[in-house]
Amino acid sequence: MHRPLRLSIDRAAIQANWRWLADRAGVAAGAAVKADGYGLGARETTEALIEAGCSDFFVSTWAEAEALGNLPQSVSLVVLHGFGADDTDAATRLPARPCLNSVKQVARWKQLGPGRACDVMIDTGMNRLGLRPTDINALDGLNIDTLHSHLACADEDDPLNEMQLERFRAVASAVPAKRYSLANSAGIGLGRDYSFDLVRPGISIYGGIQRPEFEGNIRQVARVEAQVVQRRIIPDGESCGYGATFVAREDTEAAILNIGYADGYLRGFSSHGSAFAGGYALPVLGRVSMDLIAVGVGAAPGLKEGDWVEIDYDLPWASKQSGLSQYELLTTLGSRFERRWI
Ligand SMILES: *Cc1c(COP(=O)(O)O)cnc(C)c1O
Repeated sequence: MHRPLRLSIDRAAIQANWRWLADRAGVAAGAAVKADGYGLGARETTEALIEAGCSDFFVSTWAEAEALGNLPQSVSLVVLHGFGADDTDAATRLPARPCLNSVKQVARWKQLGPGRACDVMIDTGMNRLGLRPTDINALDGLNIDTLHSHLACADEDDPLNEMQLERFRAVASAVPAKRYSLANSAGIGLGRDYSFDLVRPGISIYGGIQRPEFEGNIRQVARVEAQVVQRRIIPDGESCGYGATFVAREDTEAAILNIGYADGYLRGFSSHGSAFAGGYALPVLGRVSMDLIAVGVGAAPGLKEGDWVEIDYDLPWASKQSGLSQYELLTTLGSRFERRWI
């Protein structure tokens, strides 16, 4: 079946981004492939990164671990949400280990039997997941592969970054583990003090520019293209789309494209988004509908029904235009795309 909407995912860019992040960190780099590889495909991303030399992968839930299928023995898979009361079957059956997040999860894991490898998350100030530094006595006797903490503000120059670093150093010196890990993508930009033994990038593997240091080094991975359903003229003085928010000030050439908020092209792009064809920018006119948008095509006289138009999905730009985070831009992409790994 022909699909009039395409998502192209650049495998080589995923590998190059991961390598750049690993080089910048100067230590081993893993990869967060949760939320189906940030919406782009966890299985394909994992395969591409194993080929590039990555051997530590992170998902959120056991269901995501299972969905990854068989991985080589040399690869380790960690479930970030840990070991809940209903996870015993999954944890004994799947080749993944939990990252334990609370005293309760630690106790539950110990009950499963001694010596089983796990990771542990320490909360150094984000107050999301993790044991407080005052709870580390509970970790006695655990076989900890990697001890983690997670940065709350690494994409900004916030004093909390250094506070978390200091707190994590203190905990790391008191808790034995094979490895220690603190930095996500943005944390890698903060410098090698934050690298420890392993970094855990996610968004920047998929093209996210979290800090100025990443500009020009991290490549765009996902490209969105939609087909022209119809070309029309919006007569001078008439409006286009729901709410009549765009009013033509002259006869205006428009193309109606096969993409809308049901595809993750959310309404923040109304009158703010852009597409391009043949090097010309085509502005979004008026509101994004569920399945359609209108773009001005005065600059592209030859563009006609059936032609493909690239939606401007440069992440920092699209984020600024839409008010969505770069994470939201990727993870909301819908199911109607023809996904092409190139
Ligand atoms: C999602 C996640 C990451 C990756 O974060 P990015 O900001 O996408 O690089 C790393 N560590 C933990 C614990 C996470 O939940």
